[in-house]
Amino acid sequence: MAIETSRDLRAQKEETWSLVTEGFDPLNERGAEAVFTLANGHFGVRASLEEGNPASNPMIIVAGIYLPTDSPVEQTLLTLGDPTMLFVTSEGLHFSMSSVRTNEHIRELDLHKAVLNRSWSFTDRHGRSWRWRSLRAASAVRPTIYLYQLELTLEQGETPARVLFALPNAAILSKDGYVAESTLEITAEESADLVTSRLLVYGEQADMAESTISAVVRPNESLVLKMVNQIVPKGQPSPSVPFEDLLNEHEKEWEKRWQIADIKVHGYERLERSLRFASYHMLSATTVNEGRTSIGPRGLSGVAYHGHVFWDTEVFLLPFLTWIWPEAARSCLLYRHRTLPAARQRAVSFGYEGAMYAWESTDTGEDKTPDFGVMPDGSSIRILNGEQENHITADVAYAVIHYWRGSGDDDFMLRYGAEILIECARFWRSRVSLANDAYVIRSVIGPDEYHEGVDNNAFTNAMARWTILQAESYLRELSELDRKAAQALMSRLNVSEREMADWRHAGDLIVRSSFLQDDLVEQFDGFFGLDSVDVASYLRAGVPLDIAIGHEAMQKIRAVKQADVVMAICLMPWLWTEASARRNFEYYEPITCHTSSLSPPVHALVAASLREGELCRKYLEWAMDIDLTESFRGAAGGVRIASLGALRQTALFGLAGFKFNSEEIGFDPFLPDPISGLECSLHWRKRRVDVQIDSTKVQVKITGAPCHVRVNMEERLIRPGEWESFSYDPSVTFWAAIGRKGYSDGI
Ligand code: BGC
Repeated sequence: MAIETSRDLRAQKEETWSLVTEGFDPLNERGAEAVFTLANGHFGVRASLEEGNPASNPMIIVAGIYLPTDSPVEQTLLTLGDPTMLFVTSEGLHFSMSSVRTNEHIRELDLHKAVLNRSWSFTDRHGRSWRWRSLRAASAVRPTIYLYQLELTLEQGETPARVLFALPNAAILSKDGYVAESTLEITAEESADLVTSRLLVYGEQADMAESTISAVVRPNESLVLKMVNQIVPKGQPSPSVPFEDLLNEHEKEWEKRWQIADIKVHGYERLERSLRFASYHMLSATTVNEGRTSIGPRGLSGVAYHGHVFWDTEVFLLPFLTWIWPEAARSCLLYRHRTLPAARQRAVSFGYEGAMYAWESTDTGEDKTPDFGVMPDGSSIRILNGEQENHITADVAYAVIHYWRGSGDDDFMLRYGAEILIECARFWRSRVSLANDAYVIRSVIGPDEYHEGVDNNAFTNAMARWTILQAESYLRELSELDRKAAQALMSRLNVSEREMADWRHAGDLIVRSSFLQDDLVEQFDGFFGLDSVDVASYLRAGVPLDIAIGHEAMQKIRAVKQADVVMAICLMPWLWTEASARRNFEYYEPITCHTSSLSPPVHALVAASLREGELCRKYLEWAMDIDLTESFRGAAGGVRIASLGALRQTALFGLAGFKFNSEEIGFDPFLPDPISGLECSLHWRKRRVDVQIDSTKVQVKITGAPCHVRVNMEERLIRPGEWESFSYDPSVTFWAAIGRKGYSDGI
């Protein structure tokens, strides 16, 4: 398999399918390792330099397996050593960035093939010049396989040189029953005088003697090393498929993925590349395994947040998976079904009913949110999110409905989704309390984590209401369609007509949960009375407001950590009029600090929905800068995968103006400067939908059953096969085109 040359790699720098980094800066290395990670949902390999470097943090991160720690965080994702960390010497000289003179160093992540190419040319202290070209891939077809190939060429030198490879001992890699086992094949020119067995397998029993290879290489000759690594529980047989075939099938699988996942953005290359990067990481971090695993905030590219599962998955990643890879969305939601017993237990322990999902969960679903955190001044503070950031229980229900309406997966809903939804509704029904003939939700933390123990957080209340009313309307809808199935479900889950009537009654009476007036919505009780602060000056200075002001004082300040009321516009636009959405966006946007990476892309999305072109562009740029800066420094703990998810959603829901319900899909596009066109595809209820948008028209092609499509005010039934063209007016928003009709799903 030919590895790309450095000339090819450099040419790809301008290509939106490629991420290229040149040179080597130790300060940037940990971020680069995360950005260039290869993963396949089962494991992730950080893109560390394989010859080792003190600046590196090499590791393989194994999905879904959590080990105890001694810190307040009780569990963290399993990490293993990387078996491709090669200690290479030639006649006493170690090949490393610090011991040779680098002539050129380029790494390229080929997003299309999901392959990492590296080309390093250097001169050693004997004056010999070498070219080190390597390739890595985490197989998208076989979840345990990690491929590595190295071609080492003596490009210039007077005399032959002996090269020695020492491979890491597998015993070091093994942890908690898991191991990286490698099958290695090395080939050299006839004259290379290879001193090793040609095939070497090492695993638990391996010793260092077995993992050393040496060869004499002559000028202009190469050594090629191919490793097939398995990340498996100990004792599994190695695959007998040749390296080339494994790589081919991997690249083919990614080609297939991109046929649905890609978005082309005409006129804005940076956005096109960033969207490909976002999709790449989301697809890489995901797999279909019947809910055995879910996805943490850094995917499989780093262990910040210890790989715990937050609302990030359901709200920011699941929409992408629902439209692009519904089987994977289903699998992630099955994780929430599998962990229902722990969520039920948690509800009981707080004196509530139904299921109360953990703010941070691991393999069992128990809450693993730390109780204490350390502030920059060394003081410790109590972390209340585990107890109070309850909105996660509505976020999970929201994702269930989003997935079900988008995929038409009735089987999932009947067997699993309805149970999650109903248990979440029961939680919220018991969580609300009566005050002056209305229901209130006290003492929560909303998405804006700056303010703790607040009452009637608008986002939480609206999501709670949505959950309760969706449970009721789902069962009613099912009764109309299939009475028997509804009765069977209700009897299995012990739901009575009386309980359903109570849900409808209670849901409708939750305060601050619908925003159809033009008024300003108070983020929580008393928010408007808090002290104002000049958020813009802190943003300009790059100082996080809560750190500058202090945790306690922050409670009294009218500033927001991340989209909160704006998040409610983003997730539930049908609860607003255009005027109320605009008024609230204009109020909250300037007082939001965006201290979470989730916030800028959500603002880009809502700005697009409101046709605020300049603001949309500003927040798109901000969102793209989160992981893809020149230095990559912020990504050291892993890429911010939920932010990437939100960026991807901005393209679909904000720019393409996509909307849907169970009967139809629709588009109200808005392409701010410099975007002149957009092309994307998605799955909708077992059909494939291809969309092409330019500045005046939307073209849609359906593969599968006919489908109702609405562009602005015009609705048509589209038959499969042909491109249908609609003209559109970019000033027509979601609200202007359809209002709430048909998109409120019963609320
Ligand atoms: C954000 C949360 C997010 C978490 C993990 C926090 O900083 O405020 O909304 O779930 O990070 O990404």
